[in-house]
Amino acid sequence: MASSYKRILLKVSGEALAGDNSFGIEPPFLQAVAKQIADTARSGIQVAIVVGGGNIFRGMAGAADGTDRVTADLMGMLGTMINALALSNAITRQGVKSKPFSAATMPSVADTFTARDAKQALEEGFVVVLGGGTGNPFFTTDTAATLRAIELECDVVLKGTKVDGVYSDDPKKNPEAVRYSQIGYDEVITRNLKVMDTAAFALARDSHMPIIVYALDEPAGLSGILEGKGLSTRVGD
Ligand code: UDP
Repeated sequence: MASSYKRILLKVSGEALAGDNSFGIEPPFLQAVAKQIADTARSGIQVAIVVGGGNIFRGMAGAADGTDRVTADLMGMLGTMINALALSNAITRQGVKSKPFSAATMPSVADTFTARDAKQALEEGFVVVLGGGTGNPFFTTDTAATLRAIELECDVVLKGTKVDGVYSDDPKKNPEAVRYSQIGYDEVITRNLKVMDTAAFALARDSHMPIIVYALDEPAGLSGILEGKGLSTRVGD
C-alpha cells in the first residue's frame, strides 16, 4: 500500500542521534536515522525535519547550573544546529539532496529559515533539516516541529521516540498499560498522556495537525509507518 502523505514533518530528538550514549552524535545512529529518511524521500514523499539538541545542551539544565535562562536556551538552540548540519550531511551521503536551515541568522553556516524558501527547497526535492528550534528561548523543538509543520503545510507530524506509541500508562512500570492505535487530542489532555509538551500539543490541536508517535527502531521503518504498517499511535481529531 502506498502512503497517502505528500509532505511530512519528522521530529528527530537529540537523544536519537546519541544512541546508547547520553552525549554527542554516534555515527551508526546518525546513519541509521539518515537512511530511514533517505528511503522515505526516495519514495516520493517530501520530508522536512526538525532536530532537537538534548544530546548536546538543554537550556533547563544550564539554567539549573546558574547560567541565565535566555543564554542557556541560545546555547541549546546552537546545539540543535550542530545536529542539523550532521544530519543534513548524512542524508546527502545517502544519495538524497538535503539542505539545512537555521532559525537564527548565521549566513556562513546555513540559510536562514523562511517558510517560502523551505517550501521551495521541498518542491525541488531537497530534504530540509531545520535547526535552531523556533528561534526563541523558552520553547522546545517539539513546539518548533508543530509550528514548522503548520507553516510548511505538512500533512502530519511524525514523532519518533523510544516507545512504539502512546500508552494508557507507563508501559515500563505498568504491565497492564495498553497502546492506543488512535486517540483524540482532548483525551490526551484529560488523561494527561505525555505526547509532546503543552505548547506544542495546543498548537497541533488548534490547527488540526495529526501527530503519529512511533519507535525509531520500528522494524517497518519510517516508510512502513507512513504506509500504515508497524506499531504507532495516531493523535488527531
Ligand atoms: N530551544 C529553545 N527554543 C526552541 C527550541 C529549543 O530555546 O524553540 C533550546 C532549549 O534550551 C532546549 C534545547 O534548545 O533545551 C534543545 O532542544 P530540545 O530540548 O527540544 O531537544 P530534544 O529534547 O528534542 O533533543
